[in-house]
Formats: sequence, C-alpha cells, structure tokens
Amino acid sequence: MPRVYPLEKCRNIGIIAHIDAGKTTVSERVLFYTGISHKIGEVHEGAAIMDWMDQERERGITITSAATTCFWTPVETSGENRAEHEYKINIIDTPGHIDFTAEVQRSLRVLDGAVVVFDGVAGVEAQSETVWRQADKFKVPRICFINKLDRMGASFESSFQSIIDKLTPNAVAIQIPIGLEDEFQGVINLITMQAARFSGEHGEKVTFEPIPDNLKAQAAEWREKLLDKVAAEDPILMEKFLNGQEITTQELMTVLRKSVIDYKLVPVFCGSALKDKGIQLVLDAVVYYLPCPLDMPPIIGKNPKTGEPLERHPDDNEPFAGLAFKVATDPFVGHLTYFRVYSGKVSAGSTVLNAITGDKVRIGRIVRMHANHREEIQEVLAGDLAAVIGLNDVTTGHTLCDIDNPILLEEIIFPEPVISIRIEPKTKADQEKLGLALKKLAEEDPTFRIKSDEETGDTVISGMGELHLEVLVERMRREFKVEANVGRPQVAYKETVTALTEAEGKYVRQSGGRGQYGHVWLRIEPMERGKGFEFLDEIKGGIIPREYIPAVEKGIKEAMERGVIAGYPMVDMRVALYDGSFHEVDSSEAAFKIAGSMCLQDGSRRAKPILLEPIMKLEVIIPADYFGDAIGDLNSKRGKISETSDRLNMKVIQADVPLAEMFGYATSLRSLTQGRGSFTMEFNCYQKVPENIVQTIIEGRK
Ligand code: GDP
Repeated sequence: MPRVYPLEKCRNIGIIAHIDAGKTTVSERVLFYTGISHKIGEVHEGAAIMDWMDQERERGITITSAATTCFWTPVETSGENRAEHEYKINIIDTPGHIDFTAEVQRSLRVLDGAVVVFDGVAGVEAQSETVWRQADKFKVPRICFINKLDRMGASFESSFQSIIDKLTPNAVAIQIPIGLEDEFQGVINLITMQAARFSGEHGEKVTFEPIPDNLKAQAAEWREKLLDKVAAEDPILMEKFLNGQEITTQELMTVLRKSVIDYKLVPVFCGSALKDKGIQLVLDAVVYYLPCPLDMPPIIGKNPKTGEPLERHPDDNEPFAGLAFKVATDPFVGHLTYFRVYSGKVSAGSTVLNAITGDKVRIGRIVRMHANHREEIQEVLAGDLAAVIGLNDVTTGHTLCDIDNPILLEEIIFPEPVISIRIEPKTKADQEKLGLALKKLAEEDPTFRIKSDEETGDTVISGMGELHLEVLVERMRREFKVEANVGRPQVAYKETVTALTEAEGKYVRQSGGRGQYGHVWLRIEPMERGKGFEFLDEIKGGIIPREYIPAVEKGIKEAMERGVIAGYPMVDMRVALYDGSFHEVDSSEAAFKIAGSMCLQDGSRRAKPILLEPIMKLEVIIPADYFGDAIGDLNSKRGKISETSDRLNMKVIQADVPLAEMFGYATSLRSLTQGRGSFTMEFNCYQKVPENIVQTIIEGRK
C-alpha cells in the first residue's frame, strides 16, 4: 500500500502536564478542532473523550496511555488544496498524576515530541519539574502551553518566568496574551506580529488582525527577546539581526524548528483551553516545530543472539522493528497491545518475532484508535503507532521484529514499587476472580506487583504510591467485579550490603544412596543505588559444570528476596561466582541452588548490611500564616527542607521526607492549615534508614 501521509506529515506527540493544569481539557479541544469529536464536553461533567475509563472520569485524571490518531491542517493554510496540507497526528496519552510516572515514562519513550501544559496561575509546579526531567532524559523535543489565562490571578509573564527559572533558560515566548483573566481575548503571534482572535460557539473560527495599539510596544519588546534567542542559534540570522536587516517569518520558523528538534529552544504558547482560545495555534505549532519521525535519530538496538549493536531508520523498506509500549484491556475488543513501528512495516496476518521471549507471534487484527471509534487497518508503516488485538504474551517493553532480521530494542526500565498493602477477597467467590484480576492489572502496569507472603499466605500488592494502589483496587471492583479488603499501606523497605565480602557456601549430604553436593565461593559487593542486581559468572575451566551455574544464580536471587535484616528484598548488589567444586555423582542443580542461597545469606550478613527506605520529594503549598507550623511538622517527620519560596500569596516548601512518615499526611496537613494547604509527592530515591529506627522496623515485622 502506498503511503497516504509522507513521514514529513506525521507527528507522534504527547500532551504532558501537572495534574489539573488542563491536560484533559486541552486534549479534548484538540480532538474537537481536529474534527474527530463534534461535541465539547467539560471535564467536570465527565465527558472528556480521552478519559477512557469510568474511574478516570470520576477522578478527573487520565491514567492510561492510549494512542489516538487525528488529522490537522494548519489554520493559515488556505485555498482549495487544504487537504494536501493535512498532517496525521498520533496523540499518545500520558497520565497527569505522579504516582503513575512509569506510564509517563513509557509514553515518553515512543513519542517524538511533546506539548507541556502549565496552569497560568500556578506556573511550574513540582510535578511539572519531574515530568520535565523525564522528558530531558528521553530527549523529547517540546513546546509549552501556558493554559488558563482566563483564570483569576493568571499571569503569562510570571508563568513564563517560572519556566525559565525552574525548567530551562532556553524557553522563548512565541506569543503573548491579549488581556488576562475575564479580559483574556486572544494572543499575539510574535513571529508574524499579528493578533489572533477566536470566535464562534466553540472558538472554532480564528481570525488574524493587526496588533491592538495598546499592546504594540509590549509586543515589540517581546519580539526583540525572541529574535535575540532564535538568531543566536543560526549565524546567518545573527548577522542579519545585528545588522538590523529584516528577518522573514519563514527564516524565523525554519531556525526555530531546527532549534526545537536539537533541544536548543523551547517555544512557549498561551491561551485558555476552557474558553476555547489558542488551541488551534498549538496544533499549528505541533506541525511547525515538533519533529516528524525522520527528524529523530535512528533507533538503537542489538542483535538478540550476538549482542552486536544495530540501528534502524524510519524507512518502510527496512526490516520491521517495533516496540510494544502499552497493554490495555478494551471493553469491546479485549486485549490490546499498543506498539510503535520504528522501521519497516507490519501487516495483519503476518508472523513476527518477539525478540525478548524468542517466540514467534502472529499479528491478527490491527486497530487504529480514533477519539470515538476504532478503525481496523491492514498495515502499519514505519513511524506510526497502532494496536494489535489479542497478543496475550507480548507486554510493555517487548520488541517485535522481522523473524529473519532480529533486533532487540532497549528495554523500558521502570522504578521499583515503594508501597505495599495486603489484599484479601471478601468472599469465596471473589477469591478466584481476585487472582485473575490482579494478574491482568499487573500485565498492563509494570510498576504494579503481586506477591504472596511466604509466612501468612496473604496476597500483597505493591505500587508507586497510595493513590496508585487505590486506583488499582477500584479498577478491580469495577472492571473485574471483585470485592476485596485491603490492609494498611506499608513501606516497601529494601536491604543492601555496604562492604565487599567473599563467602563460601557448601551444601553436602552424604548419607547412603545418592548424596547432595554443591560448593561455591561468592564475592558480594555493593552497587550504586538503583542498580538492582548483577550476577557475574567467573568460573573457568569447568571447576563448576556449566549446567549448575544458572541454579546458583537462582539460589542467590531467592536468598536476596528474603533479606538478612528484616526480611526485605536485597538490591543494588553485584554477586560474582568465582570458585567452588563439584562431585561427579552427588552434584545436582538443587544442591548448587541451596549452596548459592546459603552462601549469599552468610556473606551478606558479614557485608555490613543496611536497611533502605524510600524517600519522597514533597512540595507543600500553604498560606504564609501556617508556614512555621508546616516546617515544624516536616522536621518532626525527619524531613529535610531543600527550598522555600513564595508563590502569589502562598508559601511553597520543598522537602525530602521518608515515605514511612507520610501516611495520612493529607489529613494532618488539612487540619494543620484549616484545609488550605495542598501537597504533591513523588518517589525520589532509596536511602539508608537511620540506626535508631532500624530496630523499630525489625520489631514491626515480627
Ligand atoms: P488535567 O488534570 O491536567 O487533565 O486537567 P483538566 O483538563 O482535568 O482540568 C482541570 C480543571 O481545570 C478542570 O476543572 C477544568 O475545567 C479546568 N480548566 C482546564 N483548562 C482551563 C482553562 O483554560 N481555564 C480555566 N479557567 N479552567 C480550566
């Protein structure tokens, strides 16, 4: 099939934001103006189109990362051949709440560019910083949209300044507002030096006119700043700028586009999604400034067998390579695996390789998701996104590729869960369904884990925060009709070692008949926080036969799960198997597994083990009157204040606080501030638990 949309006319973008900044409203307006949605439903009425799940609607937050396809022709395109200038835009939905950052991460991985939405009253908030840092990590070119300029207290200038101060000095204003709050009417485009106004029932009509007299001086001032920044990115433009020569709109746009794609500049736009102002121009900006798949560097992978590095380009004629980035259960078609094609193409009915599992996978039906309907398609080409129905064994992060040209794309690494709760079915009938429901949810969400407690047999679920688990339990109730009782949230402590040790593990039983013989020497050493576990096989010359080595590793891993201080899993350790011996008759996998396990436990006890706890990054916003009390409260919670600042009439406190101290903080902050304080919290890192607290934790486990 020939391409309908050349790659230059394709965009894969995400809309990312702090919760409440207006991401849902913006997304919904985008779908409306792109002609897919014909009815504007307000978020608070629960009719937003991007919010697929009931519950998201109720909570007003977006959790899933579905990909929605829409089409857009820039506003200023005129004439009969408008259709020829149409772009295809895939919008990859990203969640707003920080508990679900894993979802944000995986969507950042597959998109080429992003629109970051800010609240024009609050400016940059703590979560925006987190998402921004992640976008930096994944090298996502982006544009900013300062929303809610119609709200009381809105300020373009201070919001823009907060982007410069907190996120990037490379932000450059492309628009300024005409009026603010109740008087907010439209925007001035600093590149074309025109005023844009929005009329019609839903702002669908955009008209351009001269800049109003009272804003001319201000616009000229901002344009000067824009020219200064954009010209700095291009020697020819700089020369013209310095010589006072005229710079054309086209020149500016070309250099700006290149600078956005090279992460040199971040253009800032503004408007009000709720009042239907400015969204079409954001769509134009997506087309003008955000990259198409061809602008992105080739995707890197390796040959799954030889480890040889490989790269693939967005070219339909290269061998197929794709990445599954989301698994979801759709009420109508069932199991959906969303994937992005990085190179080549894949068609319905073909068979591909899952490079992670080595399985051959038949691609049955492929669907493209639009805002309000699913379209069955026969083929997905390079640079595009779609979903396959019924691929049960393909999960997030798996590479799908051409069987004859295998490639393993970089896996998606998710943070470890920091919080867990016990969960039990309410009735016998719920019991069976519970296991199934949990399994399904864990398949969709790599940061959600299920474990059964070895001692009590209870089921323990863990995730990224209280809300994350609450949402999952709620989904279980709704989507799987399982009623469950949940326990109190518990901190997911971990253990690690802090010194290098060598240890010997010998498991020998020789009492008539076939005995048991496993003998290993391990070197155990600490690794940096977050590095997980690494096993090194340093056995040479068959001191231990090959076939027993995986058993040793397995034994080590099992022992690490049990910990040596308080029964918490051990992390951030490198364990090398460097010596040992075997017995011709008595050695077995089982014996080597036990030897590995014993050795690890014994060695770790001597390697100065410590307990680790999750530390959260907290932002508290309170009226100034309560400042002292809030600080005192955080100090009593072992909080370390990193910054305090003013935001409008409020005080903002940033702190690192152990998660263990933060349960029920919502209630205590409310009573401390008579309901006027608010906070956001996200996982930051694991840190050593202070000595004086370790004993309490150990006792709590007994
Ligand atoms: P999300 O959490 O980022 O998805 O934000 P929503 O789109 O759900 O918006 C949060 C709240 O802000 C809702 O009550 C919206 O109606 C409101 N909102 C969104 N955009 C605007 C805007 O441009 N102006 C005003 N005044 N309110 C807005």
